[in-house]
Amino acid sequence: MSERMAATVEGPGLKPVDTMGDIRGAEAPRSLREATARTTTEILDQKRSRMTNVMVGQEQQQIPFGNDKQKTPQQQQQQQIPFGNDKQKAPRQQQQQQIPCGNDKQIAPRNDKQIDIEEEDVTPFDKLREECGIMAVYGHPDAARMTYWGLYALQHRGQESAGIASADGHELNDIKGMGLVSEIFTDEVLARLPGSMAIGHTRYSTTGDSALLNAQPISVESTKGLIAIAHNGNLVNLGNSKERLERDGAVFQTTSDSEIIVQLIAHSRCNMLVDCIANSLAQVEGAFSIVMMTRNRIFAARDPHGFRPLSMGRIAGVDGAPDTFVFASETCAFDLLHAKYERDVKPGELVMVSEDGVTSRRFAPETTPPASCIFEHVYFARPDSRIFGRWVQQSREEMGRQLARESSVDADLVVPVPDSGVTAALGYAAESGIPFNFGLIRNHYVGRTFIQPEQRTRDFGVRMKLNPVRSLLEGKRIILIDDSIIRGTTSRKIVRMVRAAGAKEVHMRISCPPTVSPCFYGVDTPSKRELIAANKSIEEIRQFIEADSLAYLSLVGLTYSCTTKEAANGLSPASFCTACYTGVYPTQWVDVEDILPAMVGA
Ligand code: SF4
Repeated sequence: MSERMAATVEGPGLKPVDTMGDIRGAEAPRSLREATARTTTEILDQKRSRMTNVMVGQEQQQIPFGNDKQKTPQQQQQQQIPFGNDKQKAPRQQQQQQIPCGNDKQIAPRNDKQIDIEEEDVTPFDKLREECGIMAVYGHPDAARMTYWGLYALQHRGQESAGIASADGHELNDIKGMGLVSEIFTDEVLARLPGSMAIGHTRYSTTGDSALLNAQPISVESTKGLIAIAHNGNLVNLGNSKERLERDGAVFQTTSDSEIIVQLIAHSRCNMLVDCIANSLAQVEGAFSIVMMTRNRIFAARDPHGFRPLSMGRIAGVDGAPDTFVFASETCAFDLLHAKYERDVKPGELVMVSEDGVTSRRFAPETTPPASCIFEHVYFARPDSRIFGRWVQQSREEMGRQLARESSVDADLVVPVPDSGVTAALGYAAESGIPFNFGLIRNHYVGRTFIQPEQRTRDFGVRMKLNPVRSLLEGKRIILIDDSIIRGTTSRKIVRMVRAAGAKEVHMRISCPPTVSPCFYGVDTPSKRELIAANKSIEEIRQFIEADSLAYLSLVGLTYSCTTKEAANGLSPASFCTACYTGVYPTQWVDVEDILPAMVGA
C-alpha cells in the first residue's frame, strides 16, 4: 500500500472505507480476477466499515457561403458566409481571433519543426477522446442491471474502466474494474449490487492516473454519511481547492479530480447534506456533470456553464408502482431501458430524487454564460442521442450540408471515414447531389491492441481498421468526409489508402474548424505542438496529408449547424464552448499543470 493510500483512511471528515468487500469469493471472469489481484496488492489494504466498496477489476476570417465551385477553400475562407437557405438567421459573430488562455503558458509559438509526427501504428486512430459516461437509476428493483444497460449504451464515452455502485437504503456497494462494461459485469457480479438505486460510470481518464485506483464511482464515508460519486468532465481549479482542503486536513484517496467534490462535501460546515452538496459544487470550477448517491437518495448536477450533457428520463411504474427516474450522459442510454426523456439537467442545477419525489435547486446563478461542448455534436455523442436539447444526428447532417455549401468540389463520390464521418457525409451528399457510398469499410472487431506483424509495414494499424472498396474507388474523384484532423497522421494514411485503391483524386472535407487549442474540460487532447492545425496552415496540412484539396467547416457554419431549424432549450450559437477551435476559454483561468501534466513537458 502506498503512503498516500495508507494515509487516506485517517483523514478528518472521512471514515475508513473497505475496498475488499465480499467479491473475493465470487467466480469472477478473467478480467475480474486479474483486477482483483492487482487491487489486492496495490489498493485494498484498508479497514472495514459498514460500506462495501469493491474494486474488481481558424477559420479566423468570415467565410463566404454558397456553391462557389471556382474558388479554393482558402479563397472561400476569406469571405462572408451566409447560412444554408436561412439568410435571416445568421448566428452572431464568433470570436474571430485566437486568444491564448491566461494560463496556457506552455502553448508554443508556431514552429513547424516542433511537430513530432509519429509514423508508427501504435495508436492507429487519431481522435480526441471523451473521458466519461455517467448513469443513475432511482426506484427500480434491479437498479444495478438497469445501470449496466445504460453504461453499455454509453460505452463509446470511455473504454478504460467502468463501475457501478448500488444502495438498498442501508448498505452501499460498489464494484469497479478495468475494461469494457461487458467484461466487468456478469450476472454473478450484478447480483452483488442489490438495491433500488444505482449509479454507474464508464471512463477514459483525462485527470489522475490511468488506473483502477481512479475508476469510478468513488465512494467515501464521511461525517455527512455515505456518498458515491460518478463524474464526467474536468475541474479546472484543482490546485486551489485541493490546497485548501489539505490545509483543512483532507487526505486524498485517489488522484482523480472528482474526489475533490466529495472531499468538499465531507468538509462542508452546512448541516443538511443537500446544502453541503450545493455549497461544494458552487466552489469548484470547470466541467462537471455528476451523479451522486447516498443510502437513500440520488443527486444529479451540471456545472454552471453546462459543458457536458446530462439528461433525465422516467420509466412509468407498472400496476401502480412508482415511476423510476434515470439520469444519463446521453439519451441513447434511455432507449434500452424504455425510459422516456423528460428534460436536461440545467446548467447550475442540482436535482435530488428521494422518497419525497424529485426536487430541484440552483447552486449557481442563471447568469453564468452557457458553454456546452460543441464537440459533443461534432464527434463524441452518438447520433441517436439528444443532447443540449437537440438531436446529434440533425446537427451532424447539417454540418455536412453546410460544408458542401462552403467548399464544394467537382467529384464522383462522397465517402465517409467510418463511423464518425458517416452522418456528415450523408448531409454533404444530399446538399451537393454527389452520390454517397461506403468506400471504406471498418472492421468493428479490432480490439484496442493487436499483434503487429514481425516486420512493421507502413500504415498497418489503419489498414487493420479500415479497408478500401476498390470497385467503388477505382478511377473516381473522391470526397472524403471526416470529423476532425488532430495530428494529421491518420488522415494521411487514409488518403494514401484511397489513392492506392485507384482513386483519381482525393478531396478531404472536415465537418468542423481546425483544432488549434487543447481542451481542459474533460477531453483527452494532445499538446498544442502536436495539433497539426496549431502549427501549419490549411495548405500545409493539405500537403502533409497528400490530398488534392482540403477544406474545413467554418466556425460560424458549425454553430449554425448545431442550432438551425430546432433550437430547443434556447440553444443559440452563443450557447457553445468552441475553445478548441478559437483558443478562447469560457472559464476564468485554467490550472493547466494540474489538469494535463503531460503538456507541461510538451
Ligand atoms: Fe468541447 Fe473543445 Fe470546449 Fe473542450 S475546448 S469543451 S472539446 S468545445
